Amino acid sequence: MNFDKVIMVDWSGGNDRGPKPVKDAIWAAIGSGGQAGEPVYLRNRQVAEAWLIDTLTDFRARGERVLVGFDLCFAYPKGFAAKLIGREDTLALWDWFEAKVEDSPTKNNRFDLAGEINAKFPGVGPFWFNGLPRDISHLPRKGTQRAGHGLPEKRAADLAIKGSFSPWQLAGAGAVGGQVIMGLPMLARLRKRFTDALSVWPFEAPDTQIVLAETYFSLLPDLVQDEPHQIKDAAQVSLYARVFSALSGKATADLMAVQATSEGWVLGAGETEVLRKALDKLPPRLKNDCFAMPQGAYWTPVDEALAHLEAHLHPVTGTQSVSIADASGLILAEDVMAARSHPPAPNAAVDGYAFAGPAPEGLNELPLVQGRSAAGVPYEGTVPDGHAIRILTGANVPDGVDTVVLQEDTTVDEDTLRFYGPLKKGANARNAGEDMTIGQPILAAGRKLTPGDIGMIAAAGVGQVTVRRPLRVGVLSTGDELVPPGASARDAQIFDANGPMLAALAAEWGHDVIPLGRAPDDRDALREMLNDATRSCDAILTSGGASAGAEDHVSALLSDTGSFALWRIAMKPGRPLVLGMWNETPVFGLPGNPVAAMVCALVFSAPALRVMAGGGWRKPEGYLLPAEFSKSKKEGRTEYLRARIQNGCVEVFPSEGSGRVSGLSWATGLVALSAPAQTIAPGDPVRYIPFADFGR
Ligand code: AMP
Ligand code: MG
Repeated sequence: MNFDKVIMVDWSGGNDRGPKPVKDAIWAAIGSGGQAGEPVYLRNRQVAEAWLIDTLTDFRARGERVLVGFDLCFAYPKGFAAKLIGREDTLALWDWFEAKVEDSPTKNNRFDLAGEINAKFPGVGPFWFNGLPRDISHLPRKGTQRAGHGLPEKRAADLAIKGSFSPWQLAGAGAVGGQVIMGLPMLARLRKRFTDALSVWPFEAPDTQIVLAETYFSLLPDLVQDEPHQIKDAAQVSLYARVFSALSGKATADLMAVQATSEGWVLGAGETEVLRKALDKLPPRLKNDCFAMPQGAYWTPVDEALAHLEAHLHPVTGTQSVSIADASGLILAEDVMAARSHPPAPNAAVDGYAFAGPAPEGLNELPLVQGRSAAGVPYEGTVPDGHAIRILTGANVPDGVDTVVLQEDTTVDEDTLRFYGPLKKGANARNAGEDMTIGQPILAAGRKLTPGDIGMIAAAGVGQVTVRRPLRVGVLSTGDELVPPGASARDAQIFDANGPMLAALAAEWGHDVIPLGRAPDDRDALREMLNDATRSCDAILTSGGASAGAEDHVSALLSDTGSFALWRIAMKPGRPLVLGMWNETPVFGLPGNPVAAMVCALVFSAPALRVMAGGGWRKPEGYLLPAEFSKSKKEGRTEYLRARIQNGCVEVFPSEGSGRVSGLSWATGLVALSAPAQTIAPGDPVRYIPFADFGR
């Protein structure tokens, strides 16, 4: 039961709470792969319903499966619907409430409606707690005033949860009754709007694209304080969005496998250990100071900067189980063990005849037994002493024999096999387990799966592997001068080259790219865009605005977060590299100049993102090849030259000017010249690193 997205909603029975985020309003958070986006504040029910419809419509269009969890009783205790609407049908009861409830941001009829309902039941109740100053007929102020209404106080699921409230209590600290009356109409409308694409668990089979479920936001009370949100409702939706999206498909299916009654069930009730475990498996977040490097007056050598990244980053994505058919290019989150030995039994490497080896030098003559051993159809008997048997490539070597002579080296006449020796014992036969043995670790966590890996895993009998969810990398260009490629542009404007280029790079590195467009040179606008981006991204690559000038808003904003680090790296090309955490999301502030942006992305972002994606640190090796060029280089900086291979030698782009974007296309890689002064003459070995090697 895999959901791509989980939305957790904390509903409310109160009136509009105003424009500024406050507690006891409606809050929602979207989770995926164990990570939650920034909680969304929804000031009233009308706004919240519109947001839900928009969000679900969007996910639906993208083909994503969504679980929507509400901290809201979906049903009343047994017998209520039967008495009120004539049948014990919870979803029909929702429609009844939808027809009766009147709602607006400032006013609703929940107390009057509760009194009206009570009037239909014998005795006093079941609803109680009139929260209004005026008396309402049939609605007692105290629970103890109720008697004889004939309904249970709680549902079975409520009894399974410590501290749960009865839906009959309409108001007072912790009460849930008011929001239930004010929530059911919204649920009824969602059902009508999304019709067949939506189901309500557990009343309907949860096999649709959208599944609504009731849950309870006090299942893991001790964990709420760990969420990075001041307002408790925000922390709760964030926590449960993480928890429910961290569950494996199997765990979700298990939680959903309950007997449906008219009372419904609370997703996760009584299963808090399962929820906790899902969360345990998630990696911790990056620390806010992970980019803080000791600042000296000197320029940091490239290797020192890389060593810092290696030491301070770790995987941040959750895990999922995927079929090996979908696993190429993904990163293993757990070791893979051979499920069976390979080959599982001794088999023939060629077509020929099997006999008990060795065969002595000279002519060998052996009687053939009837039958043969073919791939998939082995010979079941034992070959008698001194006999041979027909065998085909890949067939099990039968009992009694161990060596195979190649068909082309034999003649067969009247059931006698003849060939010339010598042939060693075991020739042309493969031993059981000679390639892999059952239980043996064949690939380690952190491995980025190659097509060859997929073949090996398949041969070892493994069909599913646990991998990291892809890292979501946002790409944002900054600058007032930027216009989208292909648009019309004035002379003072330039086309955004970095956005598409960095997006293409990150995609090649195997990440999920989230294009974030272009930000103007305006601090507030950039702040908003970064805030938005951190809802959906695990890391953000920006370009431009990363120096210390008046229009360098990326540096300016990050420097206010307390996590800002300006890395002055001794390299060419490349101006300072700006790193920082924005809402706990790492931002790599790359230079605006496209050549510098690409080189810095290759050298720093590629390995950093690889670690965050779960792939471990990897330094691109490159190759030593003879130079075709001459160059003399001063001491101090590492220089990266755009380069390509021609006739076995490395040539470099004629202009080192970093404004020449065409050189990025001309080149197939970089030549890295280390810090010491050096003079390179044609024929001298230089280190050439193909572009593809950086993010592999
Ligand atoms: P900045 O770092 O913002 O001062 O930009 C440095 C240089 O790079 C300026 O000439 C910018 O116009 C140019 N630049 C910045 N962003 C981009 C981009 N996305 N595409 C192409 N050029 C850019
Ligand atoms: Mg700029």
